[in-house]
Amino acid sequence: MKTQFKNLLQILDYFKDEATCRELLELQRWNGKPTCPHCGHEKVYRTNRGFKCASPKCYKKFSATTGTILESSKLPLRIWFGAIYLNTAHKKGISSHQLGRDLGISQRTAWFVLQRVRAMLKNNNPALLAGTVEADETYVGGKISNKTYRQRKAIANKFSRDLKTPVVGLVERGGKVHNVVVDTVNNKTVQNMVASTVKEDSVLVTDSAGVYTQFANQYQHEVVNHAQGEYFRNGFHTNTIEGYWSLLKRGIIGIYHSTSKRHLHRYCDEFTYRYNTRHISDTERFINVLSRVDTARLTWNQLTK
Ligand SMILES: [Zn+2]
Repeated sequence: MKTQFKNLLQILDYFKDEATCRELLELQRWNGKPTCPHCGHEKVYRTNRGFKCASPKCYKKFSATTGTILESSKLPLRIWFGAIYLNTAHKKGISSHQLGRDLGISQRTAWFVLQRVRAMLKNNNPALLAGTVEADETYVGGKISNKTYRQRKAIANKFSRDLKTPVVGLVERGGKVHNVVVDTVNNKTVQNMVASTVKEDSVLVTDSAGVYTQFANQYQHEVVNHAQGEYFRNGFHTNTIEGYWSLLKRGIIGIYHSTSKRHLHRYCDEFTYRYNTRHISDTERFINVLSRVDTARLTWNQLTK
């Protein structure tokens, strides 16, 4: 199968029908060896519309989307493919209004599609960060949509921190980022996040916030004292994580206008994914996302109720 595409047009030209789309999904999901998603049996029959398990205890029918995040979606796979490409290729993502217009689907449907794409982007098994790792926290959100940029900025300046949602982030210098939405930033939430993400012999760089002093014995801890106007100390800084925060915030304010606390973690997953795959091409990213199709289903009720 041809998987070297250069742009969205080539992808949509090639995946012109459902059968061709399924072929790619099967390849990405099973790598040429379809396995029964009901019982794990490896001998299966191909049928006209999909597969049938060969185990006498099972004999169930299935397709490349059974048990995946795409199961029971009524949308053509081609629309999904377009949505995945557009959402991951655009540096700051794409709004549900824009995606709906681009693909000819309703905004509501586009929103549901995007939330499920974000679920696919979540890294369930992040690798440990090592070397020089910057840690920082930021506050995102507040319901300030339907306002001009200047109005939003004024409101954002006025907002007290507790109206916003805290996110704790870690980034490996030259490497990957990892961030988690927390209820409050305190010693415990920060300890949980850092200890489970940063390798022991790493250098941890933070500002002088009190929640990081606990790491002095655990890591080589370098502190840059922002409160005293210091941004570099002995070559250490927290510019990388701050650059990531500004990308995340500009994206959420500029593209998504605002997001509720409830869904913020999915937007963080989306920005993390794009940042961590910044060295591969848009089409490689598209193929990579499809290999994550096995992600468990996410229903409308789970998202909204
Ligand atoms: Zn089976």
